[in-house]
This record gives sequence, C-alpha cells and structure tokens, in this order.
Amino acid sequence: MGMMDDITALAKRRGFIYPGSEIYGGITGFWDYGPLGVELKNNIKRQWWQAMVYEREDVVGLDAAIVMNPAVWEASGHVSGFTDPLVECKTCHKRFRADKPEQLEQHTAAHDGKSEWTNAKKFNLLTEVLLGITEPKELTYLRGEITQGVFVNFKNVVDSTRVKIPFGIAQIGKAFRNEITPGNFTFRSREFEQMELEYFIKPDEKEGQKIFKYWKEDRMKWYVSLGMTKTKLRFREHEPDERAHYAQKAEDIEYEAPFGWSEFEGIHHRGDWDLSRHKLTYTDSQSNEVYTPWVIETSGGVDRATLFFLVDAYVQEEKRIVLKLHPKLAPVKVAVFPLVANKDTIIGKAKEVYAVLKKKFVTAWDDRGNIGKRYLSQDEVGTPWCVTIDYDTLESDTVTVRDRDTTKQDRVNVSKLVEYFSSKLEE
Ligand code: ATP
Repeated sequence: MGMMDDITALAKRRGFIYPGSEIYGGITGFWDYGPLGVELKNNIKRQWWQAMVYEREDVVGLDAAIVMNPAVWEASGHVSGFTDPLVECKTCHKRFRADKPEQLEQHTAAHDGKSEWTNAKKFNLLTEVLLGITEPKELTYLRGEITQGVFVNFKNVVDSTRVKIPFGIAQIGKAFRNEITPGNFTFRSREFEQMELEYFIKPDEKEGQKIFKYWKEDRMKWYVSLGMTKTKLRFREHEPDERAHYAQKAEDIEYEAPFGWSEFEGIHHRGDWDLSRHKLTYTDSQSNEVYTPWVIETSGGVDRATLFFLVDAYVQEEKRIVLKLHPKLAPVKVAVFPLVANKDTIIGKAKEVYAVLKKKFVTAWDDRGNIGKRYLSQDEVGTPWCVTIDYDTLESDTVTVRDRDTTKQDRVNVSKLVEYFSSKLEE
C-alpha cells in the first residue's frame, strides 16, 4: 500500500485532504478538503455539470434538501432494504462486510487461515436524525443517496419546466451512510458527495437497454476525456444477488486502485421502482397516455472520482513527484514567479502579470527559494504552467512559460498570455 500512503501524505501536506476533526483525534469516515482539494473537487463537479446539463438539451438540474420527510425513505424501500450484511471475526471481534470476500480472505490469512465468523446480520445504512427541540422529537434520516430528492420532485419539474420524456434530472450533493468498514482513505466514507443523473424513459425493454448502453459508454468516455488512463478502467456487471433493492440491472465503472479494482460509478436500471413507490405518473401531452416512466441512473461518487483522478495523476519520477492532472481539473492553472525577490522592477512587472492572469485563471504567486524549487513545488500539486518574469521581460515584454509534463519552456509575449492559456485549456 505504499502508493496510497504516499498520496494520503501528499494530500495532507499540500492541502488537498485532511482527516476530519483531526485536532480532536479525528472521526472515522469523515474527511475535510483543504484549499487545493476544494478546487480539484469543484473542478470535477463543474466539468460534470457542464457535460451532463449545459451541453445537453434533455437534462435539467436540481438541488434537493438533504433531510426529507421519513415517509420518503419508507416508500423508497431504504428503511427496510438499504442494508449491508455484517460478520464479526470470533477471534478478534473485528467487523467486516460479508459481501466483500477478498477482505474476509485477507483477514482469515492474517489469523493463519483459522478465522471463524459469526452469522451475517443485516445492518441498515441510513443515518438517523432527530428533529425538533421538544419531545417527542421527529425521527428522520440524512439521505443515504441523493436520488430520492429527484424522484419526489419529478412532478414539480415536469409541471414547472418544458421537459418531455425522454429527459433527465441531474444533481450533485452530499449523502451519508453508516458504513460498517470505512477505509481506503476517502474511498469509503460516512459522508460523501454524489453526482447523479436520473434519466426518465417510456417503458420499453429495447429502449431501456439502448439507453443503458448509451449512458454507460458516455460516462466511461467522460473519465477518459479528463485524462484517466483507459487501461485502468473497466465495467463490471453486478450479479443478481449483489444488486441494490431498486435495481433491475447494474454495471459499475471500476478503477484499478492500489487496493484493487474498485467501483466509483454505478449505472443502474431502476425500472419503475421509485416512481411507482411514490405513486407518480407521467402524462404524455400529445397522446394523453398515462404511464410510470422507467429510470436509467448514472450514480458517481465525487470523492471517489477525486481520489482516482489523484491516484491516476500521481507520478513519481526520478527527480520529482508530478500530479499529471488534466489542466481542466488542476486546482491551480498558472503559477507566477519573479526571478528574484529583491529587484523592485522585476517584482513590479511580475505583480502586473499576476494581476492580469488572476482575473482569468486560478493563479498562484511564489517568490521563495530558487526557480527549480518553485517548479518542484508546483509539479507536486499539478499546476500545468509556470510563468517566470526575468530581466529579459523588462526589455522585451516576454516571459518564460514552463510546461509541467514536458518541462519545456516557451517564450510568450505578456500581452498574449491570457489567450495562450485559454487556448491550451481548450485543447
Ligand atoms: P459499495 O458497494 O462500494 O458500498 P454501492 O454499490 O453501495 O458502493 P451506490 O449505492 O451504487 O454504491 O452509490 C453510487 C456511488 O456513490 C458509488 O459508485 C460511489 O462512487 C459513491 N459512494 C457510495 N458509497 C460511498 C461511500 N461510503 N464513500 C464514498 N463514496 C461512496
């Protein structure tokens, strides 16, 4: 697990991800995103929204509340069916998920092959919340998936916008699960963020299959388009007995993480499960036909995507650590360096360049140590370009632009810099 330890350490040292509540000893399964982490995560969410909402004609957005009437969770089947099976090792009383055989095998091996397990017991993953200030308080739940907020607003969206089936509702937001085994850094947390599309179609077996295939391929392409290594990605279809209570068909997108192939997005055929449970139907405005639409869902984890973009970008070269993040995802796009920190003319010019770039791109300033050290520091956080203002700049109004991946340098006119980076970001 060397690489995961290295990435966890880098994430903390450089302000990507910190353990939650750390100064009080932490809290299992909760993580805080630092100044660079929030930029990376926001960039992922922004790119997702761009592709899933803005660039499409058939998808609208939504941001539903985290806490809902508990009747939603009764109807959706989560109160009775949103469970994971738990087993306990009889020797050391450690708890595991019975449906993750690799972990059980690993643990058994640690006890020289002699582990005995308790019978599997089902545990509900919903996190309870008590509302109100006087007794009896009202029991409800933090949402265990963001999806239900979309279904309960299905009628609102149809009535208040011009969407017609087929159409989708996209949403990004926090979800909470009382996970039995939080771990692998942020991979399995108790609080996490999801980015989901619920795509509503007219019930039809063939159409359902076609749309399912379309979305699973579209989602895979999206990760590749943002730089994830194709050979580290694969689909994995769920066996009937591992599908969630709502799913007719499910395929995961998995990444080959240092801890093994791991799901970070699920494509689910939810059929009419949810809308029929909420007693919602759709009326075709032309034919007046009334039916319960089917739903094809793409359900991605923002934190897992962030983690795997980081893992995938992490390269340990002989003389440096580089995060080869796609420029669109990189937390900082440009860093500006005055060659020396004690020459007013150079500092003044660098500040001018910095002020111009800062209005257009997330831009960092660094005047510490030598230029080589500053490059290394930016490489480690994935900044694609570094701009150095030197003595020549004062004469020719040009600067050096150094590329993170090739380490090659370009000489660019100050007046052309914004255009230069804008077009690079569009590549
Ligand atoms: P797993 O089998 O790993 O528990 P799941 O199949 O229960 O995951 P879904 O319910 O399909 O996951 O959730 C959709 C997405 O939400 C997942 O692909 C993942 O990216 C994200 N997700 C789910 N649970 C967690 C968690 N505990 N921590 C971080 N992300 C999560």
